[in-house]
Amino acid sequence: MKDPMFQLDKELAEAIFRYCRERLEMDAPLDFGSHADSPPPSLEGLITAGGRDAIDTLQFFTDELAHRVVSIDSPGFLAFIPNAPTMNSRLFDMVVAASALNGTSWLESAGAVVAENQALALLAERAGLPAGSGGAFVSGGTAGNLSALTVGRDVGHVRHPELAMHEVRFAVSADAHSSIGKALHVLGIKALLVEPDDHCFTLASLERALAADPHPETVVGIVATSGTTNAGIIDDLEGLGAYARAHDLWFHVDGAYGGAALFSEQRELLSGIRHADSFIVDPHKWLFAPLDCCALLYRNPVMARKFLAQQASYLDVLHTADAEDLTEWNPSDFGLHLSRRARGLPFWFSLVTNGVSAYETATQAAITKAQYAAASIEAREGFELVRPVSLSIVLYRRQGWGAEEYNAWSDRLLREQVAFVTPTKWEGETVARFAFLHPDTSYELIDAVLDSMTV
Ligand SMILES: *Cc1c(COP(=O)(O)O)cnc(C)c1O
Repeated sequence: MKDPMFQLDKELAEAIFRYCRERLEMDAPLDFGSHADSPPPSLEGLITAGGRDAIDTLQFFTDELAHRVVSIDSPGFLAFIPNAPTMNSRLFDMVVAASALNGTSWLESAGAVVAENQALALLAERAGLPAGSGGAFVSGGTAGNLSALTVGRDVGHVRHPELAMHEVRFAVSADAHSSIGKALHVLGIKALLVEPDDHCFTLASLERALAADPHPETVVGIVATSGTTNAGIIDDLEGLGAYARAHDLWFHVDGAYGGAALFSEQRELLSGIRHADSFIVDPHKWLFAPLDCCALLYRNPVMARKFLAQQASYLDVLHTADAEDLTEWNPSDFGLHLSRRARGLPFWFSLVTNGVSAYETATQAAITKAQYAAASIEAREGFELVRPVSLSIVLYRRQGWGAEEYNAWSDRLLREQVAFVTPTKWEGETVARFAFLHPDTSYELIDAVLDSMTV
């Protein structure tokens, strides 16, 4: 007899397909996260030796758990960095799940890898990286940054054998994303922490930091950000990139959020990414792919593979070609992972079916919304911008408010299901922040959120 756990329960399948269809057809409800009227129910006793009825369990999820998650695809989600996957990418994500696709190696999954690599090649071309650049889709910006900085450290160490492994450093702006600090922590290396110029990592700020440091010779790489998460600020990619080239330093660009602006009318601001040795962008942010999906690209994938490929007797069959030959492309050779969901496929399917122009329109729409919001803020009595809008992030102040007022207002908007907007800190002060992403966020909603700060 076949194991029942591996047989399709037709009634359950129908119920799940119905659930998925209804969720895809509805306007995304904002929903409540931790802000529902009651705390999450106790799940005690739910997992038993014999298992429970599946339809009942789906109902339990629907009634008790689903609305306790804020819908990141709601056009009213304006906090953190939202995520609004295209319909085609979500539908295809279900295909990836149903097909149990593994995206680890060329041997097992060449069909998935060629498609993912087509999407990566498009991103590399947009970024101005040379033909032959490539990498893999990994779980997120954090995993992408860690993988890239591992290669950068190892290359730096090869270039400077006189330094111990733990002595090599990267020059990092004080405004770099928290995942950069975490990556250095995991790698056991330190940063040359650079105080940026008005939050922008410039060549001048780098040169100042190097001049003031007792051991500038230990800096083997530079980490720049193409759109800070808190404020959308783009570092001096041109200046830093050219400096890195001239001094044989590894140049990493973290574009997890803002790299997507390569598809917007502001793409010129990102042209310095072409200098990068490694570059990341999260399609699960502003390129409208489902979580979780980071595109990790290397200028020289052979070098990345040299330091990251896992070697084991049972994996020898994956590595039959010689060191320079990239025809057998194993995504596992370019990141820290081995097994891997073929997480680039939903993005690839959506790119192919919607076309690149649709991405350009949708990416630009978020910038247009940010500019609209800024104009509306400036026109209002008692409101002011904290700084000019950058990409799709708006930082602003309701004059006279402190942390308590911002937090109470944010809570109220979520409870009333108007929008999800959370405050941030800017130079120590609590301020309001919009992160635009969903092309369907309306001007009316933006004004309703601003109006809600005056009642
Ligand atoms: C979001 C973000 C990250 C982290 O990415 P995850 O996908 O959340 O791991 C890193 N850097 C920047 C600039 C980001 O915006």
